Amino acid sequence: MPEKLSEEMYRIQDAVRRNYEEITEQIARAAERSGRRSEDITFLAATKTVAPPVINYAISLGLRHIGENKVQELLSKYDEYNLSACDLQFIGHLQTNKVRQIIGRVSMIQSVDSLRLAQEISRQSAKNDCTTDILIEVNIGEEESKSGVPAEQLEELLGQISLLERIKVRGLMAIPPICDKKAETCKFFNRMHHLFIDISSKTLDNISMDFLSMGMSDDFAEAIEAGANMVRIGSRLFGARVYR
Ligand SMILES: *Cc1c(COP(=O)(O)O)cnc(C)c1O
Repeated sequence: MPEKLSEEMYRIQDAVRRNYEEITEQIARAAERSGRRSEDITFLAATKTVAPPVINYAISLGLRHIGENKVQELLSKYDEYNLSACDLQFIGHLQTNKVRQIIGRVSMIQSVDSLRLAQEISRQSAKNDCTTDILIEVNIGEEESKSGVPAEQLEELLGQISLLERIKVRGLMAIPPICDKKAETCKFFNRMHHLFIDISSKTLDNISMDFLSMGMSDDFAEAIEAGANMVRIGSRLFGARVYR
């Protein structure tokens, strides 16, 4: 019954609109608390499991950045995103053999943590006659199960990646460990901010520290206060994820 469907869509839109307004308000307040303005903070919506009509509704509200974390899902939804006023980024773990499928389709890859992956991004970008922006993902909690380069290897990796032709490093990204207390999470945010400032102060070729991407639904305000200028928010905007 199509009527029932549209009723559900109305409900979803209502919730997304309210969430969007609350989030942008909270981002603005956190920015203010850290001496910045809301325009200084990039709000990227993590859109995994979210249907394109719902994503496009959020875009109609003013959302300007979306990110997917799986190549297959990104490709299956790609033709349906309304990207005329919004950019699409890749934020998940990326396998080298899938790079080819997203180059030219995404404006930035946030999750680069090895030279091998960066080399493939550069190679495929050359084939596509483009340059790809990337962030380096740092495994700030030194968790074995997580992707990201260890902090102590970051500079070496940056040095190597800076030599690649078709890549522009635009900053750093991190997903800190899940902590019981916000104060613990903040320690990792602070460590990331230190790294970010440290790298910024060294002028390295091909590398600009424009983005510090950290903070998700539960902790984006803390991340901003610790210095993040890009937050990646999923469930707080779209509701709890339903995996089908
Ligand atoms: C899903 C996801 C997010 C957002 O997670 P929420 O807790 O739903 O806000 C952020 N970053 C990455 C890489 C993700 O995959």
